[in-house]
Amino acid sequence: MQTSLDDLEPTLIEDPAAQTGVADAAPAAKRVFIKTFGCQMNVYDSERMGEALAAEGYVETNDVQEADLAILNTCHIREKAAEKVYSDLGRLRDIKRDRAKGGKETLIAVAGCVAQAEGTEIVRRAPAVDLVVGPQSYHRLPELLQRSRGGGKSVVETAFPDEDKFDALPERRPAKAASAFLTVQEGCDKFCTFCVVPYTRGMEFSRPVAALIHEARRLVDRGVRDIKLLGQNVNGYHGDGLDGHPTTLTGLIRELSKIDDLARIRYVTSHPRDMGEDLIQAHRDEEKLMPYLHLPFQAGSDRILAAMNRKHTAGEYLRLISRVREARPDIALSTDIIVGFPGESDKDFEDTLAVVREAGFAHAYSFKYSPRPGTPASTMDGQVPEGAKSERLARLQNLIDERLALFNGASVGKTMPVLFEKAGRFDGQLVGRSPYLQLVHADAGPSLIGKIVDVDVRSAGANSLSGVIRG
Ligand code: SAM
Ligand code: SF4
Repeated sequence: MQTSLDDLEPTLIEDPAAQTGVADAAPAAKRVFIKTFGCQMNVYDSERMGEALAAEGYVETNDVQEADLAILNTCHIREKAAEKVYSDLGRLRDIKRDRAKGGKETLIAVAGCVAQAEGTEIVRRAPAVDLVVGPQSYHRLPELLQRSRGGGKSVVETAFPDEDKFDALPERRPAKAASAFLTVQEGCDKFCTFCVVPYTRGMEFSRPVAALIHEARRLVDRGVRDIKLLGQNVNGYHGDGLDGHPTTLTGLIRELSKIDDLARIRYVTSHPRDMGEDLIQAHRDEEKLMPYLHLPFQAGSDRILAAMNRKHTAGEYLRLISRVREARPDIALSTDIIVGFPGESDKDFEDTLAVVREAGFAHAYSFKYSPRPGTPASTMDGQVPEGAKSERLARLQNLIDERLALFNGASVGKTMPVLFEKAGRFDGQLVGRSPYLQLVHADAGPSLIGKIVDVDVRSAGANSLSGVIRG
């Protein structure tokens, strides 16, 4: 996630001029700046918004000062991410004012989960905002922008419309990278007591298999080799199969596996309760399904898990991952953990550490509990003081770092197929991903970008591996 408007990374995909000749035909194309906060689904959504706007003649810019339209695609999952939006909006307001002095119009739009959760409150706190648009209405962006421009009044659109936004968005444009995201499922009905997702993204919805095959084929035709299937609760996928009946994530993975030049399939994020036997076995049988599984467990204490409404115990979680390991012994497991949930005692926290020690994770994301307005946990008794949360998080992160070092260290001396994705920091170096999602550096020429090549791993750092290409 970016921390300021200055250190922006490009989030839009291509310059549409490259495909459509828009720039030649219309040198004064409108410029759009999109800043993406939060999860991979927001990255996917930003790309799709960019595509919807490209069809209207917008080209991307990384320079907010020259943007005719600035979009913040926001995240509401923790308080810090949500508050960051308001400080960025203050800066955007100043830019809008300065550009207006030079006779230039600047539209400011807030999209994503803060838009959905806070709606008109955003316009109240930041009147310079022209448009607030929830994640279900991105296909209507051009029309909504038109309205906000015409009426002189801010437009707020946070309904959950009946039409399918995925059908209404323009066809995906070419991807540049060797790997790409593909949203297959949105929303969540699990209602974990700490989480805003069911309120901001709505109920679970799965896209049909046929539409996903179509989108995946287009990505693969343009050089994508690795597709990450995205969903807030991706293993709860239940979209219509090719026969018109609902199918599971395993059914979808089997169909996508038939796409010839697609080499790697991953999926994120899963819920332990939806980890069916068919999906576990797919990790053994489906060659293209990578040996990597992100499976959040959140807490190691059964009392806290019950208060979180997670619908599983620590023991059930540990038994589940041993079944996954039976099917695929080399699988890299990753997880999400929250510390300082209301009522969490020192003993509860020790239970979390115990699960981390026992599970042997390759990777983990850990967070301090952040009370979210409107969620049941935010008003529970026993809110944990900030100091205790910080202390627990530091201890947990030390343990996670140790586990990560063990996992990466065990890769040294092995040969791994690496999908090279881009140039590395040093001349003549490329960076790619192992099947276990580890970053791997090796000396190699740019012609290997997009190719899967065997690499002998020679050393392991804190966050990546280094190796040499097998001669
Ligand atoms: N659907 C996934 C799941 O079931 O875990 C992930 C959803 S959420 C986008 C990603 C992670 O953010 C969660 O797994 C959880 O660890 C963390 N998270 C969600 N709400 C939180 C909160 N209120 N405070 C701290 N962390 C939170
Ligand atoms: Fe949030 Fe995940 Fe729980 Fe759904 S399953 S409520 S997305 S943490």
